[in-house]
Amino acid sequence: MKLSLVIPCFNEEDVLALFMQETSAVIGRMKNTYGITYEYIFVDDGSRDTTLAQLRRMHENDPAVRYISFSRNFGKEAALLAGLRQADGDYIAVMDADLQDPPAMLEEMYKILQTGEYDCVGTRRTDRKGEPFFRSLCARLFYRTARSAGDPELAQGTRDFRMMTSQVKDAVVNIGEYNRFSKGIFSWVGFRTKWLEYENVSRAAGKTKWSFGRLAHYGVDGLVSYTVRPLEAAAWIGFFFFLLSMIGIVFIIVRKLLFGDPVAGWPSLVCIILFCSGIQLFCTGIIGEYLAKVYLEVKNRPVYIIRETDETFRKQ
Ligand code: UDP
Ligand code: MG
Repeated sequence: MKLSLVIPCFNEEDVLALFMQETSAVIGRMKNTYGITYEYIFVDDGSRDTTLAQLRRMHENDPAVRYISFSRNFGKEAALLAGLRQADGDYIAVMDADLQDPPAMLEEMYKILQTGEYDCVGTRRTDRKGEPFFRSLCARLFYRTARSAGDPELAQGTRDFRMMTSQVKDAVVNIGEYNRFSKGIFSWVGFRTKWLEYENVSRAAGKTKWSFGRLAHYGVDGLVSYTVRPLEAAAWIGFFFFLLSMIGIVFIIVRKLLFGDPVAGWPSLVCIILFCSGIQLFCTGIIGEYLAKVYLEVKNRPVYIIRETDETFRKQ
């Protein structure tokens, strides 16, 4: 049995050594207990610090440490895809470099997959301790929206940390979408997934790579890329206002016939116009988001560009 670990890294120089230390202890234990072989696949997502240099050194020390380095920062989703494409283990685990995904859980995940009852083990954190209040509020709102958009798998606190069989990995890699939202893709491909829960762990070192703006953008992208419910919602909002206007028209005609009321109240009229045009722009915006996604898909650009791997490095 071979286990592949896929680890996206973007400016993680502060934490890489620590990560290796903790993870290799767990992997070493698993090697002794279960006789597994392993490989690390680090994906350097265009880091501008010493991450790549460290990866090269780690590869020289242990050939089971492999890496892919991008030509620039393409984002975590691109890094995940590159890592999964490269991974050829029987089981593949995806985890962050910052030790927020406890390596000790790998063993438990492995045991669950070994029973053969599940194809994938996912994780959720039960709390968001140590996270800024507003950020955690927005995250909660995101998961609530995602769930009401019809995806029960996307519960609060779902993480990217998971272990899967190569069958699940192949299914995920074969989805050739440009706009990738892993959590949505994993729930779309299905398979039998077991969920483990754990308490939030703070980053071991270094800083988060997700500014609030970037996270918000990622959230909108995520929703748009895996559900078309917002488009339906826009249509329903339009229909609702159509009904409302019908009622209004009947009301005005009846009032005119009964009371001969002269035209009055332009402030309310202005409010209605503003309100309706606001809703219209909002709905056009929703459509625009989808159109932009279609545009990006049609351009059919690669999701990432590789500048260096451990193989090209060895040939130098
Ligand atoms: N990451 C990446 N590319 C990016 C941003 C992040 O590969 O553009 C990696 C990062 O190195 C880390 C993981 O994705 O291994 C999660 O990032 P981070 O810990 O900064 O996010 P948070 O846990 O704060 O949401
Ligand atoms: Mg983190």
